[in-house]
Amino acid sequence: MKITNVTVFPLVSQRPKLKAGHPIHPSWWGYDQTLIRVDTADGISGWGCSGVRWEMTEAVMKVLWPHLIGQDATQPEAVTEKLHQWTFWYGRGGDVTAYIGAVNMALWDILGKKTGLSVSRLLGGRHVERLKPYASMLFSWPVTEQVQNLESGLGGNFAAFKLGWGTFGRVDRKRDEALVKAARKAVGDESDLIVDAGGSDVFWHGDLKWAIETSKMLRDYNVVWFEEPLRADDIEGYRTLREQSPVHIATGEVLKRREAFLPWIERGACDILQPDQTTCGGLSECKKIWQAAYDHSMQVIMHGWNTAVGAAADLQLSATFPNGKYLEYWHPAPYVSGILKEPLLLDRDGMLPIPDGPGLGIEIDEEALKQHGRGSEDFGA
Ligand SMILES: [Mg+2]
Repeated sequence: MKITNVTVFPLVSQRPKLKAGHPIHPSWWGYDQTLIRVDTADGISGWGCSGVRWEMTEAVMKVLWPHLIGQDATQPEAVTEKLHQWTFWYGRGGDVTAYIGAVNMALWDILGKKTGLSVSRLLGGRHVERLKPYASMLFSWPVTEQVQNLESGLGGNFAAFKLGWGTFGRVDRKRDEALVKAARKAVGDESDLIVDAGGSDVFWHGDLKWAIETSKMLRDYNVVWFEEPLRADDIEGYRTLREQSPVHIATGEVLKRREAFLPWIERGACDILQPDQTTCGGLSECKKIWQAAYDHSMQVIMHGWNTAVGAAADLQLSATFPNGKYLEYWHPAPYVSGILKEPLLLDRDGMLPIPDGPGLGIEIDEEALKQHGRGSEDFGA
């Protein structure tokens, strides 16, 4: 079943706008969301998600196109591993790896549709049938907007919440505690509460002592995990922090490729690893990362601030491990809830059943996609 075409679907409606005097932070400028649809000679298509701007996704697509056209779409891992190998000199991370990861998702989706099986079954089988989705949102100061978002999440039946970035860790300790206190008050004692410092931010200055002291404050608010308290590559800092923090330490969202995760796993540098399928290589790559972490008794919770396609891929992958537990669910999230024919719905317990239909188990509404994009751009035979 030969690959005949790839179509790029830009998602731009949530792209931050440039304002005079208040330029968008450069770190956000490349991070974006793009969907691709891979078509085959049999008429079956699959969907993938790339966590970079559509312009970069399209550029990589054009470069790799000669290597992808005519490949067998029913061999997801073999095809994408060849792409990784063939891009050795200019790949190994960044836009190239994000694109190959999106192709990987799309090919697993195609194989599932061809065989009538869900991706989780094709990856080896399902250990869990539901995940706890956590509504993932930004801190705001004053807290009005964050409280409104938390309340809307409670109204949508979420039982877990993560707040991150904003002014947390960027003003003073009093501000940090006020933000967390307001969040705990809004969601009540029964909900899971998670805090994300956003240490992959540009020139992040939170240091080890700040992180240790802050972790003790977070324990007082029964926070489930403390995410990215240190700079993203500070593996020794994370190792020490993991030993001293009373709450679990999570990181890994900006790491690319399975090889980058190995030192974190082997050195026990965190409690929870957070690979992002849309930037680090897709389902095949993340299956290997998760297996290595699992074998070292390390939890994995996929980073998923992206789209319904990324969320569906995270659901399928998480189903294949006995410790699959949470799903990051961007809230409110037009790219997640607004592009599917049948939305992903939480059940009465605030859990999300993992689809078991063919492929990724979702159906994309291409008309809805147009509202978030600027039309699709074909590049094919
Ligand atoms: Mg994060």
